[in-house]
Amino acid sequence: MSFNLCGDDACQPTPPTPLPNPYWVAFSPSAAKLIDLELGSDEFPKDPEWLDLLAGNQLHVGEHLFSNPISTAYSGHQFGSWAGQLGDGRAILLGDINHLELQLKGAGRTHYSRMGDGRAVLRSSIREFLCSEAMHALHIPTSRALSVVGSKQAVRREAMETAAVCSRIAPSFIRVGHFEHFASLQNIVRLKELAELLITQFYPGCHEQKDPYLYLFKEISTRNAKLVANWQSVGFCHGVLNSDNISVLGLTIDYGPFGFLDHFEIDHICNHSDHGGRYAYHRQPQIMHWNMACLASAMLPLVELGHSSEESQILLRSALEEFPVIYAAEWQRAFRSKLGLQSEEDGDIELIERLLQAMHDSRVDFTNFFRGLSNLKKDSSPIEIVQRNEFIDRENIDLWFADYIQRLQRESLSDGAKKDTMNLTNPKYILRNHLAQVAIEKAQQDDFSEVQRLQQILMNPFDEQEAFDHYSKPPPVDMQRIVVSCSS
Ligand code: AMP
Ligand code: MG
Repeated sequence: MSFNLCGDDACQPTPPTPLPNPYWVAFSPSAAKLIDLELGSDEFPKDPEWLDLLAGNQLHVGEHLFSNPISTAYSGHQFGSWAGQLGDGRAILLGDINHLELQLKGAGRTHYSRMGDGRAVLRSSIREFLCSEAMHALHIPTSRALSVVGSKQAVRREAMETAAVCSRIAPSFIRVGHFEHFASLQNIVRLKELAELLITQFYPGCHEQKDPYLYLFKEISTRNAKLVANWQSVGFCHGVLNSDNISVLGLTIDYGPFGFLDHFEIDHICNHSDHGGRYAYHRQPQIMHWNMACLASAMLPLVELGHSSEESQILLRSALEEFPVIYAAEWQRAFRSKLGLQSEEDGDIELIERLLQAMHDSRVDFTNFFRGLSNLKKDSSPIEIVQRNEFIDRENIDLWFADYIQRLQRESLSDGAKKDTMNLTNPKYILRNHLAQVAIEKAQQDDFSEVQRLQQILMNPFDEQEAFDHYSKPPPVDMQRIVVSCSS
Protein backbone atom coordinates (compact mmCIF):
# COMPACT_ATOMS: atom_id res chain seq x y z
CA MET A 1 0.00 0.00 0.00
CA SER A 2 1.15 3.54 -0.54
CA PHE A 3 1.67 5.59 2.54
CA ASN A 4 0.13 8.41 0.58
CA LEU A 5 0.68 10.99 3.26
CA CYS A 6 2.96 13.25 1.23
CA GLY A 7 2.10 16.89 0.98
CA ASP A 8 3.43 18.00 4.33
CA ASP A 9 6.62 17.26 6.19
CA ALA A 10 5.46 13.75 7.13
CA CYS A 11 6.79 12.23 3.96
CA GLN A 12 9.41 13.31 1.43
CA PRO A 13 10.40 12.18 -2.05
CA THR A 14 13.73 10.40 -1.51
CA PRO A 15 15.72 8.94 -4.40
CA PRO A 16 18.23 6.32 -3.22
CA THR A 17 21.92 7.23 -3.31
CA PRO A 18 23.79 5.00 -5.78
CA LEU A 19 25.97 2.27 -4.32
CA PRO A 20 29.26 1.83 -6.21
CA ASN A 21 29.93 -1.55 -7.88
CA PRO A 22 27.25 -3.57 -6.11
CA TYR A 23 27.25 -7.37 -5.83
CA TRP A 24 24.90 -9.98 -4.36
CA VAL A 25 25.63 -11.06 -0.82
CA ALA A 26 22.35 -12.89 -0.20
CA PHE A 27 18.98 -13.35 -1.79
CA SER A 28 15.78 -15.02 -0.58
CA PRO A 29 13.91 -17.05 -3.22
CA SER A 30 11.13 -17.51 -0.69
CA ALA A 31 10.61 -13.74 -0.30
CA ALA A 32 10.96 -13.33 -4.08
CA LYS A 33 7.88 -15.51 -4.55
CA LEU A 34 5.80 -12.90 -2.73
CA ILE A 35 6.44 -10.46 -5.53
CA ASP A 36 6.49 -13.01 -8.40
CA LEU A 37 10.12 -12.30 -9.13
CA GLU A 38 11.47 -14.66 -11.79
CA LEU A 39 14.63 -16.51 -10.78
CA GLY A 40 17.45 -18.11 -12.75
CA SER A 41 18.85 -21.59 -12.12
CA ASP A 42 21.16 -20.10 -9.46
CA GLU A 43 18.10 -18.94 -7.46
CA PHE A 44 19.07 -15.30 -7.97
CA PRO A 45 16.94 -12.97 -10.17
CA LYS A 46 17.04 -13.84 -13.84
CA ASP A 47 17.00 -10.20 -14.85
CA PRO A 48 20.40 -8.71 -13.80
CA GLU A 49 18.78 -5.28 -13.44
CA TRP A 50 17.32 -6.40 -10.10
CA LEU A 51 20.81 -6.02 -8.63
CA ASP A 52 20.86 -2.36 -9.65
CA LEU A 53 17.36 -1.77 -8.35
CA LEU A 54 18.07 -3.38 -4.98
CA ALA A 55 21.36 -1.48 -4.69
CA GLY A 56 19.47 1.78 -5.18
CA ASN A 57 21.17 2.46 -8.52
CA GLN A 58 18.08 2.60 -10.70
CA LEU A 59 14.35 2.89 -10.22
CA HIS A 60 12.99 0.47 -12.76
CA VAL A 61 13.20 -3.22 -13.48
CA GLY A 62 11.22 -5.16 -16.06
CA GLU A 63 7.63 -3.97 -15.93
CA HIS A 64 8.14 -2.18 -12.59
CA LEU A 65 8.82 1.53 -12.37
CA PHE A 66 9.26 3.08 -8.94
CA SER A 67 8.76 6.69 -9.84
CA ASN A 68 7.99 7.94 -6.35
CA PRO A 69 10.48 6.66 -3.74
CA ILE A 70 9.79 8.21 -0.36
CA SER A 71 10.89 8.29 3.25
CA THR A 72 8.50 9.03 6.09
CA ALA A 73 8.61 10.90 9.37
CA TYR A 74 7.71 9.28 12.63
CA SER A 75 8.23 10.22 16.23
CA GLY A 76 8.58 8.10 19.29
CA HIS A 77 9.83 7.05 22.66
CA GLN A 78 13.35 5.71 22.81
CA PHE A 79 14.45 3.84 25.96
CA GLY A 80 11.39 5.17 27.74
CA SER A 81 11.80 8.87 26.95
CA TRP A 82 10.10 11.02 24.37
CA ALA A 83 12.62 11.46 21.53
CA GLY A 84 10.56 13.76 19.33
CA GLN A 85 10.72 13.43 15.59
CA LEU A 86 12.69 10.58 14.10
CA GLY A 87 11.84 9.08 10.73
CA ASP A 88 13.21 6.81 8.06
CA GLY A 89 16.79 7.93 8.48
CA ARG A 90 18.06 5.25 6.14
CA ALA A 91 14.99 3.44 4.83
CA ILE A 92 13.51 4.30 1.46
CA LEU A 93 10.17 3.01 0.36
CA LEU A 94 10.49 2.24 -3.35
CA GLY A 95 6.82 1.44 -3.88
CA ASP A 96 4.40 -1.50 -4.05
CA ILE A 97 4.47 -4.85 -5.77
CA ASN A 98 1.56 -7.27 -5.28
CA HIS A 99 0.17 -5.00 -2.53
CA LEU A 100 3.43 -5.30 -0.62
CA GLU A 101 5.84 -2.50 0.15
CA LEU A 102 9.42 -2.83 -1.06
CA GLN A 103 11.88 -0.91 1.07
CA LEU A 104 15.64 -0.38 0.88
CA LYS A 105 17.55 -0.02 4.13
CA GLY A 106 20.93 1.67 3.88
CA ALA A 107 20.35 3.32 0.50
CA GLY A 108 21.63 6.71 1.58
CA ARG A 109 20.62 9.78 3.51
CA THR A 110 17.00 10.84 3.72
CA HIS A 111 15.27 13.99 4.85
CA TYR A 112 15.08 12.39 8.32
CA SER A 113 18.67 11.19 8.63
CA ARG A 114 19.58 13.68 11.34
CA MET A 115 23.29 13.02 12.02
CA GLY A 116 23.49 9.60 10.33
CA ASP A 117 25.08 8.75 6.99
CA GLY A 118 22.02 6.87 5.74
CA ARG A 119 24.04 3.72 5.24
CA ALA A 120 23.95 0.31 6.86
CA VAL A 121 27.00 -1.91 7.25
CA LEU A 122 27.42 -5.42 5.86
CA ARG A 123 27.33 -6.98 9.33
CA SER A 124 23.94 -5.54 10.34
CA SER A 125 22.43 -6.12 6.90
CA ILE A 126 23.33 -9.82 7.03
CA ARG A 127 21.87 -10.08 10.53
CA GLU A 128 18.60 -8.45 9.46
CA PHE A 129 18.40 -10.62 6.34
CA LEU A 130 19.02 -13.91 8.14
CA CYS A 131 16.78 -13.13 11.09
CA SER A 132 13.82 -11.90 9.04
CA GLU A 133 13.80 -15.07 7.01
CA ALA A 134 14.43 -17.26 10.08
CA MET A 135 11.51 -15.64 11.93
CA HIS A 136 9.24 -16.26 9.00
CA ALA A 137 10.25 -19.91 8.96
CA LEU A 138 9.47 -20.06 12.72
CA HIS A 139 5.95 -18.89 11.80
CA ILE A 140 6.36 -15.61 13.67
CA PRO A 141 4.97 -12.50 11.92
CA THR A 142 7.79 -10.43 10.50
CA SER A 143 8.86 -8.13 7.71
CA ARG A 144 10.64 -10.22 5.10
CA ALA A 145 14.09 -9.72 3.62
CA LEU A 146 14.59 -10.05 -0.10
CA SER A 147 18.29 -9.36 -0.49
CA VAL A 148 21.55 -8.01 0.75
CA VAL A 149 23.62 -6.17 -1.81
CA GLY A 150 27.22 -5.35 -0.86
CA SER A 151 29.78 -2.81 -2.02
CA LYS A 152 33.33 -1.82 -1.16
CA GLN A 153 32.16 1.64 -0.15
CA ALA A 154 33.66 2.51 3.22
CA VAL A 155 31.42 3.41 6.15
CA ARG A 156 32.65 4.68 9.50
CA ARG A 157 31.28 3.09 12.68
CA GLU A 158 33.46 2.23 15.70
CA ALA A 159 35.84 0.95 13.01
CA MET A 160 35.78 1.32 9.24
CA GLU A 161 33.39 -1.14 7.62
CA THR A 162 31.76 -1.55 4.23
CA ALA A 163 28.26 -0.54 3.15
CA ALA A 164 25.41 -2.84 2.20
CA VAL A 165 21.74 -2.43 1.35
CA CYS A 166 19.14 -4.81 2.70
CA SER A 167 15.84 -4.87 0.85
CA ARG A 168 12.76 -5.76 2.83
CA ILE A 169 9.12 -6.46 2.16
CA ALA A 170 6.02 -6.01 4.31
CA PRO A 171 2.34 -5.25 3.76
CA SER A 172 3.16 -1.98 5.52
CA PHE A 173 6.01 -0.51 7.54
CA ILE A 174 3.70 1.81 9.50
CA ARG A 175 4.72 2.00 13.14
CA VAL A 176 3.34 3.20 16.45
CA GLY A 177 5.70 6.13 15.90
CA HIS A 178 3.68 7.28 12.88
CA PHE A 179 0.64 7.72 15.14
CA GLU A 180 2.73 9.43 17.79
CA HIS A 181 4.05 11.80 15.15
CA PHE A 182 0.67 13.23 14.19
CA ALA A 183 -0.57 13.12 17.78
CA SER A 184 2.42 15.16 18.96
CA LEU A 185 1.64 17.76 16.28
CA GLN A 186 -2.03 17.66 17.34
CA ASN A 187 -2.81 17.04 13.69
CA ILE A 188 -6.11 15.20 14.05
CA VAL A 189 -6.84 15.31 10.33
CA ARG A 190 -3.66 13.39 9.51
CA LEU A 191 -4.11 11.07 12.49
CA LYS A 192 -7.54 10.18 11.18
CA GLU A 193 -6.23 9.66 7.65
CA LEU A 194 -3.63 7.27 8.98
CA ALA A 195 -6.21 5.28 10.95
CA GLU A 196 -8.60 5.18 7.99
CA LEU A 197 -5.86 3.98 5.71
CA LEU A 198 -5.00 1.14 8.10
CA ILE A 199 -8.64 0.17 8.52
CA THR A 200 -9.32 0.12 4.79
CA GLN A 201 -6.21 -1.88 3.95
CA PHE A 202 -5.70 -4.19 6.90
CA TYR A 203 -8.47 -4.02 9.48
CA PRO A 204 -11.70 -3.77 7.45
CA GLY A 205 -13.70 -5.31 10.33
CA CYS A 206 -13.34 -2.01 12.23
CA HIS A 207 -15.80 -0.34 9.88
CA GLU A 208 -18.54 -2.61 11.18
CA GLN A 209 -17.91 -1.56 14.76
CA LYS A 210 -19.61 1.21 16.69
CA ASP A 211 -16.21 2.62 17.68
CA PRO A 212 -13.94 1.89 14.72
CA TYR A 213 -10.88 3.65 16.15
CA LEU A 214 -11.17 2.01 19.55
CA TYR A 215 -11.57 -1.31 17.80
CA LEU A 216 -8.52 -0.57 15.64
CA PHE A 217 -6.51 0.05 18.78
CA LYS A 218 -7.67 -3.27 20.25
CA GLU A 219 -6.76 -5.13 17.07
CA ILE A 220 -3.25 -3.66 16.97
CA SER A 221 -2.73 -4.31 20.65
CA THR A 222 -3.94 -7.92 20.31
CA ARG A 223 -1.55 -8.63 17.46
CA ASN A 224 1.40 -7.22 19.38
CA ALA A 225 0.46 -9.09 22.57
CA LYS A 226 0.46 -12.35 20.60
CA LEU A 227 3.66 -11.40 18.80
CA VAL A 228 5.62 -10.88 22.00
CA ALA A 229 4.29 -14.15 23.47
CA ASN A 230 5.62 -15.93 20.40
CA TRP A 231 8.99 -14.23 20.74
CA GLN A 232 9.20 -15.50 24.31
CA SER A 233 8.39 -19.01 23.15
CA VAL A 234 11.42 -19.16 20.83
CA GLY A 235 13.72 -17.16 23.11
CA PHE A 236 13.89 -14.14 20.82
CA CYS A 237 15.02 -10.82 22.28
CA HIS A 238 14.39 -7.83 20.01
CA GLY A 239 16.88 -5.53 21.70
CA VAL A 240 15.37 -2.11 20.89
CA LEU A 241 11.65 -2.09 21.61
CA ASN A 242 11.31 1.65 21.14
CA SER A 243 7.87 2.77 20.00
CA ASP A 244 9.24 3.65 16.56
CA ASN A 245 10.25 0.01 16.11
CA ILE A 246 6.76 -1.39 16.82
CA SER A 247 4.65 -2.32 13.82
CA VAL A 248 0.94 -1.53 13.78
CA LEU A 249 0.43 -4.83 11.94
CA GLY A 250 2.01 -6.85 14.75
CA LEU A 251 5.09 -7.73 12.71
CA THR A 252 8.63 -8.08 14.00
CA ILE A 253 10.43 -5.13 12.41
CA ASP A 254 13.74 -3.28 12.58
CA TYR A 255 16.20 -6.00 13.40
CA GLY A 256 19.18 -4.47 15.16
CA PRO A 257 20.99 -5.81 18.22
CA PHE A 258 18.56 -8.73 18.60
CA GLY A 259 19.55 -12.12 19.96
CA PHE A 260 18.14 -15.57 20.53
CA LEU A 261 18.75 -17.05 23.96
CA ASP A 262 21.39 -19.75 24.00
CA HIS A 263 21.21 -20.84 27.65
CA PHE A 264 18.05 -19.76 29.45
CA GLU A 265 18.63 -16.66 31.50
CA ILE A 266 15.36 -14.92 32.21
CA ASP A 267 16.89 -11.46 32.45
CA HIS A 268 19.20 -11.80 29.47
CA ILE A 269 20.07 -8.46 27.79
CA CYS A 270 21.01 -8.84 24.13
CA ASN A 271 21.75 -5.18 23.36
CA HIS A 272 25.10 -4.05 24.71
CA SER A 273 23.88 -0.41 24.73
CA ASP A 274 20.90 -1.31 26.95
CA HIS A 275 22.70 -0.67 30.23
CA GLY A 276 19.62 -0.75 32.43
CA GLY A 277 18.21 -3.91 30.86
CA ARG A 278 14.99 -2.16 29.82
CA TYR A 279 14.65 -4.58 26.90
CA ALA A 280 15.79 -7.74 28.70
CA TYR A 281 14.03 -10.99 27.75
CA HIS A 282 11.67 -11.06 30.74
CA ARG A 283 10.71 -7.40 30.30
CA GLN A 284 9.62 -7.64 26.67
CA PRO A 285 5.92 -8.31 27.39
CA GLN A 286 5.70 -5.43 29.84
CA ILE A 287 7.55 -3.12 27.43
CA MET A 288 5.27 -4.05 24.55
CA HIS A 289 2.34 -3.22 26.83
CA TRP A 290 3.99 0.12 27.58
CA ASN A 291 4.31 0.77 23.84
CA MET A 292 0.62 0.01 23.44
CA ALA A 293 -0.02 2.65 26.10
CA CYS A 294 1.92 5.11 23.88
CA LEU A 295 -0.31 4.10 20.98
CA ALA A 296 -3.42 4.49 23.13
CA SER A 297 -2.52 8.01 24.09
CA ALA A 298 -1.71 8.86 20.45
CA MET A 299 -5.11 7.50 19.41
CA LEU A 300 -7.03 9.25 22.18
CA PRO A 301 -8.06 12.20 19.95
CA LEU A 302 -9.61 9.71 17.52
CA VAL A 303 -11.70 8.00 20.18
CA GLU A 304 -12.70 11.46 21.41
CA LEU A 305 -14.38 12.06 18.06
CA GLY A 306 -17.22 9.86 19.33
CA HIS A 307 -17.03 10.26 23.13
CA SER A 308 -16.29 12.76 25.83
CA SER A 309 -12.68 13.05 26.82
CA GLU A 310 -13.29 11.27 30.12
CA GLU A 311 -15.22 8.42 28.49
CA SER A 312 -12.52 8.02 25.83
CA GLN A 313 -9.84 7.65 28.48
CA ILE A 314 -11.85 5.04 30.31
CA LEU A 315 -12.50 3.11 27.09
CA LEU A 316 -8.85 3.11 26.04
CA ARG A 317 -7.66 2.27 29.53
CA SER A 318 -9.90 -0.76 29.69
CA ALA A 319 -8.82 -1.80 26.17
CA LEU A 320 -5.23 -1.56 27.36
CA GLU A 321 -6.03 -3.80 30.30
CA GLU A 322 -6.87 -6.59 27.87
CA PHE A 323 -3.23 -6.78 26.78
CA PRO A 324 -1.88 -8.87 29.68
CA VAL A 325 -4.85 -11.21 29.42
CA ILE A 326 -4.32 -11.80 25.68
CA TYR A 327 -0.58 -12.10 26.20
CA ALA A 328 -0.99 -14.66 29.00
CA ALA A 329 -3.39 -16.79 26.96
CA GLU A 330 -1.04 -16.84 23.97
CA TRP A 331 2.01 -17.51 26.15
CA GLN A 332 0.23 -20.41 27.81
CA ARG A 333 -0.88 -21.80 24.46
CA ALA A 334 2.68 -21.55 23.11
CA PHE A 335 4.37 -23.16 26.14
CA ARG A 336 1.74 -25.89 26.47
CA SER A 337 2.44 -26.77 22.90
CA LYS A 338 6.20 -26.71 23.55
CA LEU A 339 5.57 -29.32 26.25
CA GLY A 340 3.36 -31.36 23.93
CA LEU A 341 0.21 -30.70 25.95
CA GLN A 342 -2.92 -30.56 23.87
CA SER A 343 -5.46 -30.44 26.67
CA GLU A 344 -5.56 -27.71 29.30
CA GLU A 345 -5.25 -28.33 33.01
CA ASP A 346 -5.07 -25.86 35.89
CA GLY A 347 -1.65 -27.07 37.01
CA ASP A 348 -0.03 -26.54 33.59
CA ILE A 349 1.10 -22.99 34.26
CA GLU A 350 2.82 -23.98 37.47
CA LEU A 351 4.47 -26.88 35.63
CA ILE A 352 5.82 -24.53 32.95
CA GLU A 353 6.99 -21.96 35.48
CA ARG A 354 8.77 -24.56 37.61
CA LEU A 355 10.60 -25.77 34.51
CA LEU A 356 11.66 -22.27 33.45
CA GLN A 357 12.92 -21.52 36.96
CA ALA A 358 14.98 -24.73 36.96
CA MET A 359 16.32 -23.95 33.46
CA HIS A 360 17.29 -20.46 34.58
CA ASP A 361 18.98 -21.74 37.74
CA SER A 362 21.11 -24.15 35.69
CA ARG A 363 21.39 -21.98 32.55
CA VAL A 364 20.12 -24.81 30.35
CA ASP A 365 20.14 -24.33 26.57
CA PHE A 366 16.62 -23.09 25.77
CA THR A 367 16.20 -24.39 22.21
CA ASN A 368 17.90 -27.75 22.67
CA PHE A 369 16.11 -28.56 25.91
CA PHE A 370 12.66 -28.20 24.39
CA ARG A 371 13.70 -29.97 21.21
CA GLY A 372 15.06 -32.90 23.21
CA LEU A 373 11.96 -33.11 25.37
CA SER A 374 10.02 -34.66 22.51
CA ASN A 375 12.02 -37.89 23.00
CA LEU A 376 10.43 -38.46 26.40
CA LYS A 377 7.94 -41.30 26.58
CA LYS A 378 4.91 -41.67 28.77
CA ASP A 379 6.66 -44.53 30.56
CA SER A 380 10.09 -42.87 30.83
CA SER A 381 11.60 -42.96 34.26
CA PRO A 382 13.06 -39.61 35.44
CA ILE A 383 16.49 -40.96 36.29
CA GLU A 384 16.93 -42.37 32.77
CA ILE A 385 16.30 -39.00 31.15
CA VAL A 386 19.62 -37.74 29.83
CA GLN A 387 18.59 -34.11 30.12
CA ARG A 388 18.52 -34.33 33.92
CA ASN A 389 22.32 -34.09 33.71
CA GLU A 390 22.04 -30.52 32.52
CA PHE A 391 20.55 -29.42 35.85
CA ILE A 392 22.50 -28.70 38.99
CA ASP A 393 19.66 -29.56 41.34
CA ARG A 394 18.93 -33.13 40.20
CA GLU A 395 16.44 -33.83 42.95
CA ASN A 396 14.34 -30.86 41.88
CA ILE A 397 14.40 -31.70 38.18
CA ASP A 398 13.63 -35.39 38.85
CA LEU A 399 10.50 -34.26 40.68
CA TRP A 400 9.62 -32.03 37.77
CA PHE A 401 10.15 -34.82 35.22
CA ALA A 402 7.99 -37.15 37.35
CA ASP A 403 5.16 -34.60 37.40
CA TYR A 404 5.56 -33.91 33.69
CA ILE A 405 5.42 -37.62 32.81
CA GLN A 406 2.28 -38.02 34.92
CA ARG A 407 0.79 -35.07 33.08
CA LEU A 408 1.71 -36.61 29.70
CA GLN A 409 -0.07 -39.79 30.71
CA ARG A 410 -3.32 -37.82 30.78
CA GLU A 411 -2.81 -36.79 27.14
CA SER A 412 -4.35 -38.82 24.34
CA LEU A 413 -1.57 -38.65 21.73
CA SER A 414 0.76 -41.63 21.34
CA ASP A 415 4.48 -41.07 22.03
CA GLY A 416 5.24 -41.02 18.30
CA ALA A 417 2.50 -38.55 17.41
CA LYS A 418 3.44 -36.36 20.37
CA LYS A 419 7.07 -36.29 19.23
CA ASP A 420 6.07 -35.27 15.71
CA THR A 421 3.80 -32.47 16.97
CA MET A 422 6.39 -31.18 19.44
CA ASN A 423 9.04 -31.10 16.72
CA LEU A 424 6.80 -28.83 14.70
CA THR A 425 6.72 -26.29 17.51
CA ASN A 426 10.21 -26.59 19.05
CA PRO A 427 12.79 -25.63 16.43
CA LYS A 428 16.11 -27.43 16.18
CA TYR A 429 17.84 -24.46 14.51
CA ILE A 430 17.76 -20.80 15.51
CA LEU A 431 19.98 -17.89 14.47
CA ARG A 432 22.47 -18.12 17.30
CA ASN A 433 24.75 -15.10 17.53
CA HIS A 434 27.91 -17.11 17.07
CA LEU A 435 26.59 -18.65 13.85
CA ALA A 436 25.75 -15.22 12.46
CA GLN A 437 29.17 -13.99 13.53
CA VAL A 438 31.04 -16.74 11.66
CA ALA A 439 28.98 -16.02 8.52
CA ILE A 440 29.61 -12.27 8.85
CA GLU A 441 33.35 -12.68 9.29
CA LYS A 442 33.54 -14.83 6.16
CA ALA A 443 31.38 -12.35 4.25
CA GLN A 444 33.74 -9.57 5.29
CA GLN A 445 36.39 -11.60 3.42
CA ASP A 446 34.05 -11.80 0.37
CA ASP A 447 32.99 -15.38 1.03
CA PHE A 448 29.18 -15.42 1.18
CA SER A 449 28.80 -19.20 1.23
CA GLU A 450 28.24 -19.35 4.99
CA VAL A 451 25.49 -16.71 4.87
CA GLN A 452 23.78 -18.76 2.21
CA ARG A 453 24.24 -22.04 4.10
CA LEU A 454 22.80 -20.53 7.29
CA GLN A 455 19.89 -19.13 5.30
CA GLN A 456 19.18 -22.58 3.89
CA ILE A 457 19.33 -24.25 7.33
CA LEU A 458 17.18 -21.60 9.00
CA MET A 459 14.48 -21.81 6.36
CA ASN A 460 13.68 -25.30 7.72
CA PRO A 461 14.21 -24.88 11.46
CA PHE A 462 11.95 -27.77 12.46
CA ASP A 463 13.62 -30.35 10.20
CA GLU A 464 16.35 -32.63 11.53
CA GLN A 465 18.84 -31.83 8.71
CA GLU A 466 21.35 -34.32 10.19
CA ALA A 467 24.18 -33.07 7.97
CA PHE A 468 23.97 -29.73 9.78
CA ASP A 469 23.59 -31.09 13.29
CA HIS A 470 26.51 -29.01 14.58
CA TYR A 471 24.57 -25.82 13.75
CA SER A 472 22.17 -26.73 16.54
CA LYS A 473 24.85 -26.79 19.22
CA PRO A 474 25.32 -24.05 21.85
CA PRO A 475 28.18 -21.61 21.22
CA PRO A 476 31.73 -22.64 22.10
CA VAL A 477 32.98 -20.99 25.30
CA ASP A 478 34.98 -18.30 23.47
CA MET A 479 31.88 -17.23 21.47
CA GLN A 480 29.35 -17.02 24.28
CA ARG A 481 29.52 -13.29 24.80
CA ILE A 482 29.42 -11.66 21.39
CA VAL A 483 28.78 -7.95 21.79
CA VAL A 484 25.95 -6.52 19.68
CA SER A 485 24.98 -2.87 20.01
CA CYS A 486 22.88 -0.21 18.27
CA SER A 487 25.75 1.02 16.09
CA SER A 488 24.99 -0.52 12.73
P1 AMP B 1 16.99 2.35 15.05
O1 AMP B 1 17.51 2.42 16.43
O2 AMP B 1 17.86 1.59 14.08
O3 AMP B 1 15.57 1.90 14.98
O4 AMP B 1 17.05 3.85 14.48
C1 AMP B 1 16.52 4.97 15.14
C2 AMP B 1 16.51 6.15 14.20
O5 AMP B 1 17.83 6.45 13.73
C3 AMP B 1 15.70 5.90 12.97
O6 AMP B 1 15.14 7.13 12.62
C4 AMP B 1 16.73 5.46 11.96
O7 AMP B 1 16.31 5.64 10.63
C5 AMP B 1 17.88 6.36 12.32
N1 AMP B 1 19.19 5.83 11.93
C6 AMP B 1 19.86 4.77 12.43
N2 AMP B 1 21.05 4.61 11.80
C7 AMP B 1 21.12 5.58 10.86
C8 AMP B 1 22.10 5.94 9.88
N3 AMP B 1 23.24 5.28 9.72
N4 AMP B 1 21.81 6.99 9.08
C9 AMP B 1 20.68 7.70 9.23
N5 AMP B 1 19.75 7.42 10.13
C10 AMP B 1 19.94 6.37 10.94
MG1 MG C 1 14.08 1.67 13.79
